[in-house]
Amino acid sequence: MRLLTAPLLPLLLHSLTTQAYTPISNDFLKAIPPPAETDFNIDSGGLLAPLLIPRVPGTPGQVKAQRHFVDFFRENLPEWEISWQNSTGTTPSSDGKQLPFQNLIIRREPPWTKQRGPGTASFLTLVAHYDSKITPKGFIGATDSAAPCAILMYLARTVEKELAKMWARQQQQAAAASRERAGNEREEEKKMPGPDVGIQILLLDGEEAFVSWTDTDSLYGARSLAAEWENTTYPAMSPFKNPMRQISLFVLLDLLGAAGPTVPSYFQSTHWAYQRMAALEGRLRQMKILESKEGTQPFLHEGGKMAAEFSGHGFVGDDHVPFMARGADVLHIIPTPFPRVWHTAADDGKHLDMASVRDWARIVTAFTLEWMDVQKTGT
Ligand SMILES: [Zn+2]
Repeated sequence: MRLLTAPLLPLLLHSLTTQAYTPISNDFLKAIPPPAETDFNIDSGGLLAPLLIPRVPGTPGQVKAQRHFVDFFRENLPEWEISWQNSTGTTPSSDGKQLPFQNLIIRREPPWTKQRGPGTASFLTLVAHYDSKITPKGFIGATDSAAPCAILMYLARTVEKELAKMWARQQQQAAAASRERAGNEREEEKKMPGPDVGIQILLLDGEEAFVSWTDTDSLYGARSLAAEWENTTYPAMSPFKNPMRQISLFVLLDLLGAAGPTVPSYFQSTHWAYQRMAALEGRLRQMKILESKEGTQPFLHEGGKMAAEFSGHGFVGDDHVPFMARGADVLHIIPTPFPRVWHTAADDGKHLDMASVRDWARIVTAFTLEWMDVQKTGT
């Protein structure tokens, strides 16, 4: 026994240190720029207003929403790489007509992983669906999921500044270190200047059912993307086999923007990530950075949930399903109960609780910044 403990101990310590994680500092949290009045104003421009229209696949609203996303990233965040994943399909109400389902994939990764080619970086994957339900007529889906899409746009703009700074600094440090060991050829072996960790935003299409929710009448975009990603093969030497494996965590935002949400921790396997986000919410509240009135419970109220309490009940069918079936770790940020306005004509801009929308933007952004930092200090 004694012989075994000696070699095992360092291994154990190593695995503990690589999983160690540094909470983001208070100064950093305070420095997160508050969402501007113009970002989430429901009438005038900004991130959200252009999305408060019906966005049914195969209609002009779908195209308008797509253009809004593409214009925003091209104009404000040209470093984020936009790509499409398209499919078509019939629905129970399309009379045999093929409808287009068009997912947007928007990526930002370290310059050194980009140089090495696809399959090099892992991605914190932040997801919302942008389509809206075909009924009731004129349905907007402000919480479902216009607001989550706008929150992801705010997040991208906010984290970009920090990522650009961090990656430039890491590259400088790596260049300086490589000059120092000039002449030592073995050390010149390709070494990444920092962790191979990026962010990708998935704006998914065709989440809603056209008639009633079944396995085939729902999740049109997500099912197509997950299947395609699993069937894509990267070159043999790539660190990741396919885009599905590059998902380090699949964070799905849905039905956010009503007052007083309570979001359970759905999966034991990602409870650690839920706890991180809940801790950030707690700190932001304590620092009086959040605007929403404190209800009886915080948004993320199950940080203390014990292993035995994960029963498998309360699972909510949503865009994560085809990804989870293929092994992705999922953090599902969706309230239970659903907002009162769910799937009614009242799920519109006027019924959003702006303080909650802005608070979610801050919480998810803080989580993302901390995630990127975690990976930096974790190696
Ligand atoms: Zn819905």
